[in-house]
Amino acid sequence: AYARKKDFKAVPLNQTVTVGLSNKYKYSTSQNVIGIIKGSKRPEETIIYSAHWDHFGIGPKISGDSIYNGAVDNASGVAAMLSIAKAFQNSKEKPERSIVFLAVTGEEQGLLGSEYYAINPIYPLNKTVANLNMDALGFYGETKDISIKGKGQNEVEDYITNVLHDHGLEAIGDTRPSAGSYYRSDHFNFAKVGVPAIDIVNGFNSKEHGAKWGQEQRLGYNEKHYHQPSDAYSPQMNTDGFAQIANILFTVGYKLSNETTFPQWKSGSEFKAARDKSMKK
Ligand SMILES: [Zn+2]
Repeated sequence: AYARKKDFKAVPLNQTVTVGLSNKYKYSTSQNVIGIIKGSKRPEETIIYSAHWDHFGIGPKISGDSIYNGAVDNASGVAAMLSIAKAFQNSKEKPERSIVFLAVTGEEQGLLGSEYYAINPIYPLNKTVANLNMDALGFYGETKDISIKGKGQNEVEDYITNVLHDHGLEAIGDTRPSAGSYYRSDHFNFAKVGVPAIDIVNGFNSKEHGAKWGQEQRLGYNEKHYHQPSDAYSPQMNTDGFAQIANILFTVGYKLSNETTFPQWKSGSEFKAARDKSMKK
């Protein structure tokens, strides 16, 4: 108790303490998967969609189940990305800039696949217009609000808010700012090398059942199923929320693909300097 008093002074105890830690490492190799739809006019300029395809594979058994499916985290994002690819492929007017689809690996082990891509880019970063990332979308149907991770960072946000406005949807910031989401999924590695990157996800305000219900769904998932074998597909899941995000990001990517300008980092963003440096090359 004395140690909690303001006038406490350290007292030599003449004792030593030994602390030990042991870790098991397993090294393995994994792959990013990448595809491209070539632009009709400025094929060297790209818009990169990304979603991590990895999860935890087989792990410790919980309630008799050792398969970590990752239905929400992140089959939802991969499914949305594949539908966007299909939509671009089926569009009558081909995009003028190239559209890249990047399924990254090792997200759950520390954003490894996107870090590898950012260090070893296949398409020049200073011609990469934007990165649009999808991770763990809303499995509880369409929402009236869409959460933009990294709100205030760059002008890709303005493209998104325009589309939301057209659909009568509300743009909100991070629903869990304390979790630091802008720094916790693959778009972060693009931001670090200066590519204007953004990640959006359904908010809480369910179109059908309201905000309180939607919040219960998402927070219930975070509590019970996040990174557990029970993050599995069930027929109760309403995948309209995945489609909603896919629609918004398709519209944004299509618009960006037919422009000649590059969206910028907003003044004050910590990622602006990296872009300025890379554009000079
Ligand atoms: Zn994830």
